[in-house]
Amino acid sequence: MRELKVGTLIIGAGQAGASAAFALREKGYSDPVCIIGEEALPPYERPPLSKAVLREEKSLSDILVRDLPAYDSHNIQLMLGSRAEQILPQEQQVKLGDGQVISYDNLILATGGRPRQLPGKALPGVHYLRSHGDGTRLAAELKQYKKLAVIGGGFIGLEVAASARKMGLEVCVIEAAPRVLQRSLPETIAADVVALHEDQGVEFHYNARLQGFAGTDRLSGIQLEDKSIDADIAVVGIGLIPNTELAETAGLAVDNGICTDAQCRTGNAHIYAIGDCANSYHTYYQRAVRLESWQNANLQGAIVAAAICAETSDIQNDAVPWLWSDQYDWSFQVAGIFDSQAQLISRGSAAEGKQIWFIHSDGVLTGVVGWGKGTSIAKDVRVGQMLLQQGKTPPFDMLADENISLKKLLKL
Ligand SMILES: Cc1cc2nc3c(=O)[nH]c(=O)nc-3n(C[C@H](O)[C@H](O)[C@H](O)COP(=O)(O)OP(=O)(O)OC[C@H]3O[C@@H](n4cnc5c(N)ncnc54)[C@H](O)[C@@H]3O)c2cc1C
Repeated sequence: MRELKVGTLIIGAGQAGASAAFALREKGYSDPVCIIGEEALPPYERPPLSKAVLREEKSLSDILVRDLPAYDSHNIQLMLGSRAEQILPQEQQVKLGDGQVISYDNLILATGGRPRQLPGKALPGVHYLRSHGDGTRLAAELKQYKKLAVIGGGFIGLEVAASARKMGLEVCVIEAAPRVLQRSLPETIAADVVALHEDQGVEFHYNARLQGFAGTDRLSGIQLEDKSIDADIAVVGIGLIPNTELAETAGLAVDNGICTDAQCRTGNAHIYAIGDCANSYHTYYQRAVRLESWQNANLQGAIVAAAICAETSDIQNDAVPWLWSDQYDWSFQVAGIFDSQAQLISRGSAAEGKQIWFIHSDGVLTGVVGWGKGTSIAKDVRVGQMLLQQGKTPPFDMLADENISLKKLLKL
């Protein structure tokens, strides 16, 4: 079999892998670059899968990270429908599923993650949502069936609930914890999110102990410890398991993700890890952080490219994390990492269609959350993110006062 030799080999044709490949070219890297992707599709953006793709408002071509001709024009080789099976770190080689061997100078692991699964046999009607195929299969069933149970009240589950309500299904959310978004947002904000869903007719079941799915050929209901719920379609969104197996068997350190330094280097000088699969040292937080977000996948693509190009600039993992979530005609943005028990200062109100919360622990600003109609909160969250990045905590009364421009607070 032909042996291929490349300058940089990227395993994982997702958001992070594609962004790294283009960032390398933008920095003038001229050696061969090859991306290996297990999926047959070119790299695409996953956020629309629980939103516009589910409602069939966007197709694959609308959500590609870059269109196909861009890979040719940037001389980036895509090997799709091809799985990397083994890394041979001593030889600086990767073995593919079909036996082909690729040699590399630099290897980037951008393998993402897979949905955490419930135990038991898969039953038709029970869905997980990670890939474009998952999204289109679910979209087709949402048109056909009437009663959706969302298992897991995280951002993705709630986005699916909102999309399904817009499509006219009856929707309930089944959550094992006493409330939704327990790991991501303080209780007051989560309660407002629930109120928004309840206004739209979504039912919530908390502290739910799932016993199993009812149905023989297809889902007919959800069995909880204390009740049964009718459902002909279910979506399970209970978290992500980072794809770290390749790294582990290659002897790389793995701890809740592939361990890297602030420039995304693993313990092997030729191997890097980025995106959802990487647990990278974050210089802002001064500890390792694994992030599952579009922003992080893109930023780490740029960071790893700078590291490979040996840029002297100190581009590193230090950006305040940011993510968004769209539900109905409301958009959320969350900046920072904070304790879900932390205290809040509110600016504006949901009734006015726009609210910002500044989150603080022991008097120090640790996060900013905004929600509002359309993109109304984008600028304020951006300024909040800048306050966080600069380590500033303005006086709380000024943060709460809508008459004081947030931009002014940056200059204090
Ligand atoms: C439904 C959904 C909605 C989301 N919404 C938002 C949002 O609103 N806002 C936000 O900030 N983030 C959102 N995210 C998260 C965001 O999409 C991810 O953080 C981002 O896609 C991570 O990119 P990645 O490249 O690290 O991983 P992925 O995009 O998962 O790409 C990894 C790729 O590697 C491939 N791969 C794995 N192992 C191998 C192997 N051995 N050989 C070859 N290929 C391999 C996988 O098949 C996959 O294609 C959402 C995610 C999902 C699933």
